[in-house]
Amino acid sequence: MSISNLEEITCPCGNVFEADLISAVSVADNPELKEALIAGEINLVSCPQCGEMFYAECFILYHDSENELIAFVYPLTFQNQAARCREKMLREFRSALDGFGEKQKIAYDPILIFGIEDLVLILKAEQETEDEESVLKHIASKIGIGVLKVQPSIARKFSIPKVLPVLKGSKTIDANGVISALKTLLKHNPNLLNYAKLLDRLSKNKSMLDDVKKAE
Ligand SMILES: [Zn+2]
Repeated sequence: MSISNLEEITCPCGNVFEADLISAVSVADNPELKEALIAGEINLVSCPQCGEMFYAECFILYHDSENELIAFVYPLTFQNQAARCREKMLREFRSALDGFGEKQKIAYDPILIFGIEDLVLILKAEQETEDEESVLKHIASKIGIGVLKVQPSIARKFSIPKVLPVLKGSKTIDANGVISALKTLLKHNPNLLNYAKLLDRLSKNKSMLDDVKKAE
């Protein structure tokens, strides 16, 4: 469910007016809101007095169940109260979880964000990674490698793509296998920057995938 409320807004010109602001986004219910958010079109208001258009900041709860992302987005001006916001977020998150049935238990942590721009940056970066994941899935069998999926919340925690290349037929995430499959992938498409970055990180620290496996 996505929610919007009529809020009082003060324009830099001093005029006070009311506008409908979105305070909760459920991507599963309203995928179009994710696109609008990325395009900077959510909670964009225009002052009826002076015509100024600006972004009206308000708290937004953002939930994308498929991508396992729950973000509590506070206005940028709340940044100096980060500890209090985090405490409030965890309290509200726990009480919301208590209200869910066992089936809907959410096993990942919410993230705390100040200012909508930071959420947009995260969403844009994940979209770019998803584009590369699509390329991998598309060419994997053609170039003789396999793919394994990592839970989205875990991939985000470790800043890795949620689709990993592996040796053909492999059912486990093994660092040497992933390195070898990454090299094959990048030989066929050197433009996959997120996978190139992963190869670079893995070459320096093979045990990082052990931590990913432990978290799964
Ligand atoms: Zn105004």
